[in-house]
Amino acid sequence: MGKVTGFLEFDRLEEGYEPVEKRVKNYKEFVIGLNAEQAKIQGARCMDCGTPFCNNGCPVNNIIPDFNDLVYTGDWKNAITVLHSTNNFPEFTGRICPAPCEAACTLNVNGDAVGIKSIEHAIIDRAWAEGWVKPQLPKVKTGKKIAIVGAGPAGLAAAQQLARAGHEVTVFEKNDTVGGLLRYGIPDFKMEKSHIDLRVKQMEAEGVVFKTNTMVGELPKTGAASKVTNWATTTVSPEQLKKDFDAVLLTGGAEQSRDLPVPGRELAGIHFAMEFLPQQNKVNAGGKVKDQIMATGKNVIVIGGGDTGSDCVGTSNRHGAKSVVQFELMPMPPEQENRELTWPYWPYKLRTSSSHEEGCEREFAIATKEFIGEGGKVTGVKTVRVEFKNGKFEEVAGSEQTLKADLVLLAMGFTNPVETILTGFGVDKDSRGNAKASTDFIGGYTTNVDKVFAAGDMRRGQSLVVWAIREGRQAARTIDEFLMGASTLPR
Ligand SMILES: Cc1cc2nc3c(=O)[nH]c(=O)nc-3n(C[C@H](O)[C@H](O)[C@H](O)COP(=O)(O)OP(=O)(O)OC[C@H]3O[C@@H](n4cnc5c(N)ncnc54)[C@H](O)[C@@H]3O)c2cc1C
Ligand code: SF4
Repeated sequence: MGKVTGFLEFDRLEEGYEPVEKRVKNYKEFVIGLNAEQAKIQGARCMDCGTPFCNNGCPVNNIIPDFNDLVYTGDWKNAITVLHSTNNFPEFTGRICPAPCEAACTLNVNGDAVGIKSIEHAIIDRAWAEGWVKPQLPKVKTGKKIAIVGAGPAGLAAAQQLARAGHEVTVFEKNDTVGGLLRYGIPDFKMEKSHIDLRVKQMEAEGVVFKTNTMVGELPKTGAASKVTNWATTTVSPEQLKKDFDAVLLTGGAEQSRDLPVPGRELAGIHFAMEFLPQQNKVNAGGKVKDQIMATGKNVIVIGGGDTGSDCVGTSNRHGAKSVVQFELMPMPPEQENRELTWPYWPYKLRTSSSHEEGCEREFAIATKEFIGEGGKVTGVKTVRVEFKNGKFEEVAGSEQTLKADLVLLAMGFTNPVETILTGFGVDKDSRGNAKASTDFIGGYTTNVDKVFAAGDMRRGQSLVVWAIREGRQAARTIDEFLMGASTLPR
């Protein structure tokens, strides 16, 4: 373990942030990672618990006590080997994971958790800087061909695992670059896209082929699903993929945004978050967007209190919005969780993101009744306060209000994957409209269609990057077993 008395001697040390005035002027990452000495002290706090709850709290089951100890003793090269043994992309999770491992850390029972995420971040950044992250080429080629539909974290993790097992892997992606929501959705200030580019280079050297601008199947022509990011110039049919490949893995995400069908929804100036955010990603990458949705000088209302909403807040402030208000239907959660009730699970508590700190008014227990407009453009939002009573939301009499709005961003989550992609393959859906497949140890991620598998948000619904990586890794093992009769890939 780290230092036997480390947790008694040292406090948790948070990563630093660039000051707000500086960071809102650009789209660059602003988290200042721990240096080697700070990471060592953080590693010293780990108690190497007999039952490491952190390891169980982490969806990819990172072997956290081991890498904490290796950082404490200065063996960074072995630390990255341990980290990579469970996680293909720690540079993604070390930046944007909400860190359920820290909620589960034993020190979090009555004190401050080990800064596990900051240690992960430090290990992988050092590994890249030192040139320790290299392509891992398979010793034997199997001659089996696998198609992966969707280049988000689930598809990428599966592709890397399967290429390392010696298979020929082709990843099909409808957008112009690889990364899924990591590329188009998650703002650059949370994660710069050069991290994805480095991995893509490594994976190409390992033999993975990426076919971007390529749509597998078809999107609907109308409705929320017709508005998902799509720069495809080529289409491939599901039938063709099934014919040309020995296995097909569907990792197309859960892209269908939840809509708000109240009066006035058709007014100009009301957009899904996932119309707004990807445009800024594209512009940051040097691309051009015709008629980009801009918040500059506008009163912005973001509807939806989660992470996507918070990303809209951060982006609106960088555009130079006049005011930003974020709505949440649920009441304000407690500032501190009751740890005796919640540990080691993910606690329900108020979460204030770095974007909120940059300037935003947050309204809780509020519902939108109507969008008001003039000349076809949105000018305001009619709201009402709500209370959760008798199993449903009830309006509070006399609490109606109208707020000014020149731009409304709908960030109320995602309902399910785009239906036409699943029906195109003939894949059965579960009750929530996701691809139906279990996560069983044997045969998990298998759909009802021969040699077609599903993983990530497309199977589990809207989730987290770390869950997508887990599902991609596990699906890769199932596919390897399916093709070869047995697999040595880790689960
Ligand atoms: C704005 C936003 C912010 C988020 N922030 C965080 C965060 O901070 N931390 C976190 O852990 N999670 C975050 N998430 C959630 C996280 O990004 C997702 O859970 C994760 O990316 C899911 O990975 P995936 O590979 O399953 O799917 P996705 O990342 O959605 O990737 C699916 C890919 O498949 C492609 N595709 C779909 N259909 C087809 C087709 N028919 N043909 C070809 N290509 C296709 C899509 O274009 C896309 O590139 C955020 C989500 C959003 C929307
Ligand atoms: S639960 Fe916390 S203290 Fe215990 S092994 Fe994990 S990181 Fe270390």
